[in-house]
Amino acid sequence: MLEQIVEPLLQWFDENKRILPWRQDPTPYHVWISEIMLQQTRVEAVKSYYARFTQALPEVADLAACKEERLLKLWEGLGYYNRVKNMQKAAIEVMEEYGGNLPADYEKLLKLPGIGSYTAGAVSSIAYGIPQPAVDGNVLRVITRITEDPEDILKQSMKRKIEEKLREVMPKDRPGDFNQSLMELGATVCVPNGMAKCEVCPVAQFCKARASGTVLEYPKKAPKKQRKIEEKTVLVIQNGQEFAIHKRPSKGLLAGLYELPNQEGYLNREEILSYVEGLSLIPLHIADAGEAKHIFSHVEWHMKGYFIKVASTEEKKVGDLIFVDKKESKGKYPIPAAFGAYRKYIEEDF
Ligand code: SF4
Repeated sequence: MLEQIVEPLLQWFDENKRILPWRQDPTPYHVWISEIMLQQTRVEAVKSYYARFTQALPEVADLAACKEERLLKLWEGLGYYNRVKNMQKAAIEVMEEYGGNLPADYEKLLKLPGIGSYTAGAVSSIAYGIPQPAVDGNVLRVITRITEDPEDILKQSMKRKIEEKLREVMPKDRPGDFNQSLMELGATVCVPNGMAKCEVCPVAQFCKARASGTVLEYPKKAPKKQRKIEEKTVLVIQNGQEFAIHKRPSKGLLAGLYELPNQEGYLNREEILSYVEGLSLIPLHIADAGEAKHIFSHVEWHMKGYFIKVASTEEKKVGDLIFVDKKESKGKYPIPAAFGAYRKYIEEDF
C-alpha cells in the first residue's frame, strides 16, 4: 500500500513545500544542524536559532573548534544541551576522520556521536541523495494512520519496522524529497491532537484510518511514566552590580552550565538567611521572587525563588559560588531556560 503514496506525496510536496532557510542550501552540515534543532523546537522558532548558529559557525571546522561556553551560549534557548555537545564531538571526529566533510555513508553517519537513524537518514537522503528513510514522530504518525498499525510507536522495534517499510518503497531518484514530503505532511496536514486536515491530504484515498474513521486513535502510545518532581529553593544573591552563579557538575542534567544557586526542598526565610551567612555574606534584604516550574523529559522542577541583597563585598568567590557582573553574564555565562522566571532579577536593577 505504501508504494501508492509515493507519487501523490511527491507531487503535493513540489507544490506545497514551505520555504525554509536550510532548504535553500542543503549542505550536509546545514541539514545536520537544522534536523538536530528541529528535534526539540518548532520550525518558526528554529529559523532564528539556525541563522545565529550558522553565521557564527559556518563550517564543521568552526563547530569543532568552538569554545564550549560560546557553543552553549549559541544553543541558549534550545535546551537539551547534550545535543550540541554531541554535535561538537561529532564535528571533531569528522575533522579527524573525514577531512571536515560529513561522510556520504548512512552507516558511518550513524556511528558519529548524537546521530541516530533519523538524522543519519535525513543527511544521507537530503544532502547526498542516498535512499535511506528518516523516521521521526511526524512520520510515525502519518504511516501508522495510513496503515492502521496498532503497535506502540515508542518502541524501537516499531520504528525499525517502519524504516524498513519505507526503505522498500523509497524512490531512488528523490529519496530526500520523499522523506521531506512525509515530514512536511506530518507537520502541516496530518497533525496531532485531533486536528488532521484529511480533506486536503494528498494520500487520503489510501489512508485506512480515514476510511474507517479511526484517525483519532493513531498513533498508539503506551502511557508514559510519571515525571519525578523535585522541589527547589532558588536564590538570586545580589552584591552591588553582581550576582552569584554556580557551575553545575560536568555530568548529568544541564551539565557544565551555570545556574542560580539553589537548594533541594523549600527552605524558609530563616534557613535561607543562615545558608547565606554560612557563606560569610551579610544579608541586608530578602524578598519573595515567586514560584516557577520547569519541565524536563523525566523530571519537573518546582521552584520557589528569593531575591537577597547582601552587604558589598570585593570577594569574587564564596564557597562554590562566583559573583559575576550583570552585563558580563549576558554574553559569557549561559544560564539555562529553567531559571528563566528569575532572569529579570539578574537583568534589571532592584
Ligand atoms: S487522510 Fe488524514 S489521517 Fe490519513 S494521512 Fe491524510 S491527514 Fe493523515
